[in-house]
Amino acid sequence: MIFDNSKSIPYAQFEILKPFEGKITHFVTTRNESLPPSTQNFFTIGLNGIVDNDIVLRNRRLLAEQMGFKSDSYVFASQIHSNKVAVVKNEDRGKGAFERSSYLCDIDAMITNIKGVCIVTQAADCVPILFYDPAKSVIGAAHAGWKGTVYKIPLEVVRAMSSEFGSNPKDILVGVGPSIGSCCYEVGNEVVELVKEAFGNIRELILNNNKFSKPVFDLWEANKQSLLECGIGEKNIEIASLCTKCHNRFFFSARAGDKGRFGAGIMMK
Ligand SMILES: [Zn+2]
Repeated sequence: MIFDNSKSIPYAQFEILKPFEGKITHFVTTRNESLPPSTQNFFTIGLNGIVDNDIVLRNRRLLAEQMGFKSDSYVFASQIHSNKVAVVKNEDRGKGAFERSSYLCDIDAMITNIKGVCIVTQAADCVPILFYDPAKSVIGAAHAGWKGTVYKIPLEVVRAMSSEFGSNPKDILVGVGPSIGSCCYEVGNEVVELVKEAFGNIRELILNNNKFSKPVFDLWEANKQSLLECGIGEKNIEIASLCTKCHNRFFFSARAGDKGRFGAGIMMK
């Protein structure tokens, strides 16, 4: 990832998507240390009540302005740890941008071919994943916690991009954002069993870590395997490899005790 600290709202971008700046805008927000001390922990974009909604809406507006669009271009989903993908239409523009009640319901991923719609995934340890098919001009954004990862949400996104818009998986570029890493992600037996069921060979997915008595789950490797399974080229996958708990100074982490949410968004110009 590339960090841009030159603007008033620092953010990160995927190296793999950066060359397409003329066509797309994308970002991964951070905790934002440039803000005054009283607010530095709260560059959250989640309307989950941890700070007043008007602060969140202000954050979203400032981010949009900096990236060159308006808040009514955002679309947010309710994120229920499913593998459901929504095809975002023009009439969905602005859904979830200003209030939770209009979040796209029971959805964890969005795809669209409509310009000027910024689809955003919120995270604080779960994996935000951005997709771009430059050949068919289609974008996607997914939220993959352990459940979404086990349900192979990246595979569902790629399938939907192919069936809805004729995307060839070989053309799709994918950025796997910051999330809790296997350095910090201790999981219980019930997770191990489901990983085994979903992926078969768990040798590279469930690992031992001296810090913990239970094993750890490598969400990045699991999502990468799902992406390879559906025909995405290995060279077209960028994994940020940034653990939100280890890099809690930059990113919200639920396991570090945060209730704030950072966002990963993508929009076609
Ligand atoms: Zn870590």
